[in-house]
Amino acid sequence: MKYARPIYVTRPVLPDLPDFLSLLEDIWSTRILSNNGPMLRRFEAALGEYLGVEHISIVNNASMALVLSLRHFGITGEVITTPFSFVATSHAIRWAGAEPVFADVDPVTLNVDPAAVEARITPRTQAILAVHCYGQPCDTDALGDIARRHGLRLIYDAAHAFAVRHDGQPLVAVGDLSVLSFHATKVFNSCEGGAIICPDAATKDAIDLMGNFGIVDETTVTSVGLNSKMSELNAAFGLALLPRMDAALDARKVVASRYWARLKDLPGITCLCDPAIPGRNAYAFPILVSPDYPLSRDGLYERLRDEGIFARRYFYPPIADLPMYCELPSASAGELPRARRAAREILCLPLYPDLAEADQDRIIGLVSAP
Ligand SMILES: *Cc1c(COP(=O)(O)O)cnc(C)c1O
Repeated sequence: MKYARPIYVTRPVLPDLPDFLSLLEDIWSTRILSNNGPMLRRFEAALGEYLGVEHISIVNNASMALVLSLRHFGITGEVITTPFSFVATSHAIRWAGAEPVFADVDPVTLNVDPAAVEARITPRTQAILAVHCYGQPCDTDALGDIARRHGLRLIYDAAHAFAVRHDGQPLVAVGDLSVLSFHATKVFNSCEGGAIICPDAATKDAIDLMGNFGIVDETTVTSVGLNSKMSELNAAFGLALLPRMDAALDARKVVASRYWARLKDLPGITCLCDPAIPGRNAYAFPILVSPDYPLSRDGLYERLRDEGIFARRYFYPPIADLPMYCELPSASAGELPRARRAAREILCLPLYPDLAEADQDRIIGLVSAP
């Protein structure tokens, strides 16, 4: 490799170390390491305040959060979902004991297309699991309307949508349940972690119970629960990071705006996420590389990689083309043309709050003149 210091698609933000150490001292003094401890409760309260939502169940990762969300509603039938997402979205449906049914995406937002969702509804459909891809809101009005008219549960995989606001409210407050991921690669992280945004206290309590083995008290177990608890260490990390998030989100926006200004008119390149839209979180900087660009998408991916720049093809291959899903009728050849085209053309450029200007200039230069 030519460059000693590789540039990855993302780099995690970290708390100020003294802030984290001070919380660790609290943990050392209580010697409580898990089981809904004081640090978790502080993190939950601070997170709710930061996001502007009241009822949050914090869990150990978003995959678990998705499974719990589906199980909470007893979903075991068909779940209409997007083929253009991280594989965990569909895996969670299977782990919940249900069956994914893929609906094609909107070609501009790459979020699931409400008309395509409605066309997939059968008597076995029980829920819609939509993804706010790259933190761009789904057509929540149309999906909500479809869910209401057909009596379906509407769950959002909001793993990318930390702190996004839409129509004057937190995007995660929309739908029956929304799931956030706090994995290291996301906008906000607790190393590993996730959360379910609930509409009321009763829902939160039910989900917390399911995630604590179904244990009500020392002698009472009321359901076949499992373990989705976040440790006090992870909670301390998240709690210490929250105060840095305003600055981190602002810095992401600066980086995304430089990409946008310098790449948006480049022939053969389509920039997908306009960072100037209020309420967005600059989760990623995805571009589509169309056939009139001098290189193929993979050609550009490799050109950058040769220079030590690790752009990523999120999301390729589409979930519907993976071996465990490709036999589904909704995944057959000829279906999902827009998702499959997006998967062929997509490339996410490196984006994180402290991406150096000189590094970004090098990336922009290479994309502009490959
Ligand atoms: C990262 C991600 C997940 C999984 O999150 P984990 O916390 O790593 O389990 C699920 N869905 C989407 C869209 C993601 O990007």
